[in-house]
Amino acid sequence: MYDLVLRNGTVIDGSGAARRVADVAVQDGKIAAVGEALGPGKREIDAAGLLVTPGFVDIHTHYDGQATWDADVTPSSWHGVTTTVFGNCGVGFAPVRPGQSSYLINLMEGVEDIPGTVLSEGVKFDWESFDDYLSALDRMRRTVDVAAQLPHGALRFYVMGERGADHAEVPTEAEIAEMARLTEEALRDGALGFTTSRTTKHRARDGRFTPSLSAREAELLGIAQGMKRAGCGVLQVNSDFGPGEFEALDAAAKLAGRPLSCLLVQVDAQPKLWRETLDQINAVRRTGRKANAQVGSRPIGVIMGLETTAHPFAGHRAWLDMRKLSPEERYQRLVSDAELRRVLTEGKQEPNPRAFMAEAFDRMFPIADRPDYEPDSKDSIAAIAQRTGRTPHAVALEEMMSRGGKGLLMLPFENYAYGSLDVVHEMITDPASVLGIADGGAHVGVICDASSPTSLLTLWGRDRTRGPKLDLEFLIAKQTRGTAEAYGLMDRGLLAPGHKADINVIDFDNLTLKRPEVAYDLPTGGRRLIQRASGYKHTFNAGVETMQNDELTGKRPGRLVRGAQTAG
Ligand SMILES: [Zn+2]
Repeated sequence: MYDLVLRNGTVIDGSGAARRVADVAVQDGKIAAVGEALGPGKREIDAAGLLVTPGFVDIHTHYDGQATWDADVTPSSWHGVTTTVFGNCGVGFAPVRPGQSSYLINLMEGVEDIPGTVLSEGVKFDWESFDDYLSALDRMRRTVDVAAQLPHGALRFYVMGERGADHAEVPTEAEIAEMARLTEEALRDGALGFTTSRTTKHRARDGRFTPSLSAREAELLGIAQGMKRAGCGVLQVNSDFGPGEFEALDAAAKLAGRPLSCLLVQVDAQPKLWRETLDQINAVRRTGRKANAQVGSRPIGVIMGLETTAHPFAGHRAWLDMRKLSPEERYQRLVSDAELRRVLTEGKQEPNPRAFMAEAFDRMFPIADRPDYEPDSKDSIAAIAQRTGRTPHAVALEEMMSRGGKGLLMLPFENYAYGSLDVVHEMITDPASVLGIADGGAHVGVICDASSPTSLLTLWGRDRTRGPKLDLEFLIAKQTRGTAEAYGLMDRGLLAPGHKADINVIDFDNLTLKRPEVAYDLPTGGRRLIQRASGYKHTFNAGVETMQNDELTGKRPGRLVRGAQTAG
């Protein structure tokens, strides 16, 4: 007798193979059999007409802090995700010396837009070494599996002290040796990779660039020696890919003998650079070495509303004057004060970094009940303003004030230089790509792309109208086996005997991604964007049901994953 049998579902097993109607049987947390007319189970679920897929593996998140206080790791767990990997992009919380967490909070707050008060309240920092951090993660029973990587920023600060926070400071030979030793140790203790950042987009809260920005060859190669000695782990990088950067990172991966994983987006300033980088990655692959590009399946969408971090009025004097008001008081003021609305929408703003792309009205779109991740320029705020003879500022404010002040705009700021997702199509169909920019847990007041696994299926598998769609078999393999394999998690991402029973049962015809919302549910009432979906009938982690009809069940079979895994 099996523990669980899912009967007659449409099985898409994660390998990319064609779907088939079959039963899936689970025993002791693992897939026991996939086939026709399997024997009875203690629990049986009629999955006829529903998709049965592996649980989704999200390798690009920033739950380093959240995973220490939130056993559910939402929003990812609402979107069929059963494994999340964090510690990406060179930022994270271990190793850390006692009493020195404030710099790491400052860095995470600036780079990933997670409020410092939330982190200092929420994260206990009752660890020092990377292994201690893993042990702290291991103590919590959770909804999803989690795995962590060693971030360059934390490592540098740990070894070099305050000097390490300054990217222009060069470590001594002894310091490089120490970084290499700690990298080797962390990988042996279960870090899935070593991560670094070379992007000027990343600044600490205090304005300083991310500490690994210009790390020199000697430092990168020194750390690579540590990776080589450990003989495991991925080198994950976030880089602007300026001249020579790819070569430097690739040299480190080559020396380490480990896979290179590069975050890849299309940026407006150099809309063809991603193609060059992808060509470089493919050239590395042709030599037989492992390298991949972590790509998104939709634009990186900045969400703008009265309660979010960035919006067209965020830098306006009259807006800043209201900063002491609660969201509700501010909304009431806007409703009742026509003069205030006039002043705000006049369009005269002081330069302010918070007013991110504040005037890009041709790139701003109202978010409907069912968000459209490939909006057409004819639906932009600028186009609406032109059609209706108003100013774009007035249209934007009206949209944000709609729905009782909960109206939202989306500004696709990366992967959208040409106003469509044709570029993303090219990225995700490239054999060198893996999915990985959902960024769960990060940029919580600005973006909400942790829902990407859901829009991957709805947008590319069903709803796209502005270009070709993609087969569900391909899409699901991309979010399961493809991502799992990129990190050596060979025990999951595939519905085959001996693999972990991480399973989604999805009502695909009715799978719907809802509007993002602003919630105040972080520690100290901190604000974040969240987004729900409907259509996830069941999600299982190790055979235990963690979600039913889009609601978490409260069961917590999720564990820390230490290091690469083998099936069976
Ligand atoms: Zn990242």
